[in-house]
Order: sequence, then C-alpha cells, then structure tokens
Amino acid sequence: MKVSAAAATDIGMVREGNEDSYLVDEPLFAVADGMGGHRGGEVASQLALETVEKLFRKGTGDLAEQVQEANRAVFERSVEDRQVAGMGTTLTAALVEGDRIRLAHVGDSRAYLLRDGELRRLTEDHTLVHRMVTEGEISEEEAEGHPQRSVLTRALGVDMFVDVDDDVVQVRSGDRLLLCTDGLTGMVSEEEIKEMLQDVADPSEAAERLVRAANEAGGVDNTTVVILDFSDDGQGHEAQPEASGGASVRAPRGRAFPSKRAAIWVGAAVAVIDLGLVGLRVYLDTQWYVGVFEGNVAIYRGIPAEVAGFRLHHVVVETTIPAEVAESFGRDLDQGITADDREAANAIVEQIRSDVEAAQRNGPGP
Ligand code: MN
Repeated sequence: MKVSAAAATDIGMVREGNEDSYLVDEPLFAVADGMGGHRGGEVASQLALETVEKLFRKGTGDLAEQVQEANRAVFERSVEDRQVAGMGTTLTAALVEGDRIRLAHVGDSRAYLLRDGELRRLTEDHTLVHRMVTEGEISEEEAEGHPQRSVLTRALGVDMFVDVDDDVVQVRSGDRLLLCTDGLTGMVSEEEIKEMLQDVADPSEAAERLVRAANEAGGVDNTTVVILDFSDDGQGHEAQPEASGGASVRAPRGRAFPSKRAAIWVGAAVAVIDLGLVGLRVYLDTQWYVGVFEGNVAIYRGIPAEVAGFRLHHVVVETTIPAEVAESFGRDLDQGITADDREAANAIVEQIRSDVEAAQRNGPGP
C-alpha cells in the first residue's frame, strides 16, 4: 500500500503557545497534545513523539510498548525538572504495516477512517465526559458541547505506567486516515470534518482546510491534523490512474516537529481555565478516597468534588459497614478520607472495619 501523508498545525486564535506536536516519518505517524502550564505541554508532546520515533527506528518493542516508554520518559522528566512538573500529553499514533495500520492511543486526540463516504472513529476518548456517556449519565449530544469535555482520565507522563489502547485496522486503496487533536474535534463537527475530507482530494490542502475550519469556528485551542491517503502500490488490481505524467507521490519525511509558535495573547481567562483542567487531568485517576455510598462505607476513585455539577469520582468498592457507625468513631466520611493509592484506601477501610467489630463485641450494638 502506498501512503501519501500531510500534516498541519496551528496555534489557534486564543492560546499563547502551541503545545501540540506531530510526527510524520513514514511509516510512523502521530499527533500529541501536551498540557502542563508554561512550557510543560510543549515539552511533553515533543518528548513523547521523539521517544516513540527513536525507539521505532531502533526496532525496540512494538508500538504500544514504545508509547509506554514515551510515558516513562515524560514522567521522569516531569519529576526531574521543576519547570515542567506536572506536564503530560495525549498521543495517538499510527504505524502503517502493508495494508494494516497499527494504532496506539492515550487521551482525547483521535483517529478516524474515511471509507466510502463514511467517517468512522477508531479511538475512544479517555475523558471524564466519555465515561459519563458510557455510564449513561449524559447523552452523546450533551457530551459534545460539554464545558468539561477536555478533562482527561488518562494521559502520558502522569504516572510511571499508563494503559495504552492498541488496535489493528485493515486499510484498502482509497481509504483516508485522519489523526487529530481535540482542537479540531472541539470546534468542528464530525459531519463537517467528513465533508471536508471528502471534498478536498489533496492531503495537504485537506489538512490546511481542517485547521482553518477550527480557527474560523473560534480556534480556542491548538489544532493539529495528520492525513494519510492509501492507494494501491501497483501490485494489486485496483491501481488508480496517475493524474499527471506518472510522477510518484512521496510521503513527506521528517522529524518530530515542534509546532509553529506565534505570540497571540488574548487574556488570562483561558490560561486559568486550562490550569484547572491540567490539575484535574493529573488527579482524576490517580486519587483514591474512602467515603459513603448508599449509607455504607465505600472506596472511591477520583476526588471528592464536583465540577460544574459533575462528579469527579466513582465507586470502586462497596462495603456493608454502615457509614453512621464508622462516623461515630470520629471519621469524617462526608468529606472523604483521601488515600495515596488503592492499598491505602483498603487499609483505611480495614481499620474502620476492625473498630466497628471491636465496638460490636465490647459494647451495646448500634
Ligand atoms: Mn488540545
């Protein structure tokens, strides 16, 4: 299979820097959307892609393992360097292997496949909002314009290990693959994305067109897209006639480009919101606490708080210990007792259990 690739990135209309990065190094392609305050996001997305590319060139591991290593590289840098502490990044990568694409994915950047006029999403968003949709708390439509839609439940560089989604997709001549950051999907509907991908044949033009559409819709975020066009390499039966004089189409080669930078600074509001989200992104799935669920002591994952009316936690373990009894031992379960990890949360519950059991043995029962 022959691949024609193009990429475009833009700072957008309101951000002060471009924290997105992309990788176009046939047969390996990726986008990454960094976060983490001043400089951090830029470093995270670039370091992640450079790490994946380097390991791929060396032939170390498979794509998912290379992404796992990239996670470690970003995490270690964020621990070593105070200036980039707390940084993280999304990463959506595609490796072309003949007529198959191997995908590796963490975060809320996306991969789409356009085939026969249908646009299919190949990745699942690792976001709070997506989780609320799958749990039936809100609808797909409510999720689309949701103010907290960029709160991530998974990102690279936040912890020593990360779950990497991987998948293999069969491609055929005429297919078009899109990798993009949420700067596109937050601004432009899937219907419009599909139309542009269908209407504009040249991949570079299509990439530019998508980025422009995101900016015209407000461009509140950095936008990055990578487009891959698959065509028969002449071995098969469906070779398409060359449009002009048979010049062979070469995919651009390159390194992990840092995105173009420009100094456009509109106001502090965006930065403040962003910082809040960065904090949440980091915390959500690495935090645990013991609280109350339906009157009983329970272990929660997340933080005991709500943002704009949405809970940032979910119950992991329900116990049969009545919360009222536990609270009679001076434990403030209403506020939630936070724990560093699941084991620590278990230990708190076991302590509560033994207190309650001891009291039941010794004194009058509740
Ligand atoms: Mn973004």
